[in-house]
Amino acid sequence: MKKHNFSAGPCILPKEVIIKASEAVMDFNGSGLSLIEISHRSKDFVAVMENARSLALELLDLKDKGYKALFLQGGASLEFLRVANNLMETKAGYLNTGTWSDKAIKEAKLYGEVVEVGSSKDENYKYIPKGYAVPKGLDYLHITSNNTIYGTQFKKFPVTDAPLVCDMSSDIFSRQLDFSKFDLIYAGAQKNMGPAGATLVVVKEEILGKVSRTIPSMLDYQVHISKDSMFNTPSVFAVYTSMLTLEWLKKLGGIAAIEEINEKKARLLYSEIDLNPVFKGYANTEDRSIMNATFNLTNESLKSTFESLLKEAGINGLNGHRSVGGYRASMYNALSLESVGVLVDVMSEMERKG
Ligand code: PMP
Repeated sequence: MKKHNFSAGPCILPKEVIIKASEAVMDFNGSGLSLIEISHRSKDFVAVMENARSLALELLDLKDKGYKALFLQGGASLEFLRVANNLMETKAGYLNTGTWSDKAIKEAKLYGEVVEVGSSKDENYKYIPKGYAVPKGLDYLHITSNNTIYGTQFKKFPVTDAPLVCDMSSDIFSRQLDFSKFDLIYAGAQKNMGPAGATLVVVKEEILGKVSRTIPSMLDYQVHISKDSMFNTPSVFAVYTSMLTLEWLKKLGGIAAIEEINEKKARLLYSEIDLNPVFKGYANTEDRSIMNATFNLTNESLKSTFESLLKEAGINGLNGHRSVGGYRASMYNALSLESVGVLVDVMSEMERKG
């Protein structure tokens, strides 16, 4: 039976990527050796790393604009502190739009003063703060473009004279933006790129090297840049699989093409949420994410009926995060419009039953 994977991450990847990645585990480039048993310094793997880094910049339209792409380890959670360690001299601004920003703030406080420029904590992060004033004199401003748990997403980005740092873990490569507005972007691979284990960091080189502290080598972006993202053994499987996904995206027509599909999926699901009295959306309408749609049943007694219908339809990974409850449909790049259609059919059936 076909499965429809709405998991929030790790999550669905393109079928052809999973096939090619598993072939490489058995026999990499016809070498008779597995991708995971060869040296990361071998010619073939160095080419993979270079290709992955180059494709990331190309898809974001950041080639030849002073940016470097790195594939690091430690997840987005390590970037919470690596960002602060590399960029914070005295004071940084943070927009608090959920658990992940909150965690980033906690780490940044180890290195200096954090100004919470805006927060939506008062309503359990169901909206994106607006109308805030960004103070002058910040070392950087940090935002989380898509809030995976609550299903909110920045549509407009703050204007600041400080470097803009963005955690794009759950919406990178999903929509067209002027990426050159950001000075540092980071994203765990395990949503729109590949398996867990690699983190993509895209950084404008000119913002680095400005803090007075000594940065430990593994935390230093400049060290990783100088070693072409091979300072230590990279997560070869995650980098290879990410490269395959980026190739898949390029072949499809890049971010412009996937954005069109992502918008169709989101429109289909949100219109069902809005028109069907059995369901109610969680996030404020204007801030809704096209990647993660959060919603609840209006009548909790329908829970077991809904969940058994989901199971019968092969729908997987729809449970909401424990801090929000209800349901969350994650519609990452590799999820088809057809899968969203299957979910919407189950939801309409609930209306007929309800
Ligand atoms: N930021 C965001 C927006 C996330 O969704 C997540 C994880 N889902 C993280 C950070 C943490 O990522 P990791 O588990 O790779 O540290």
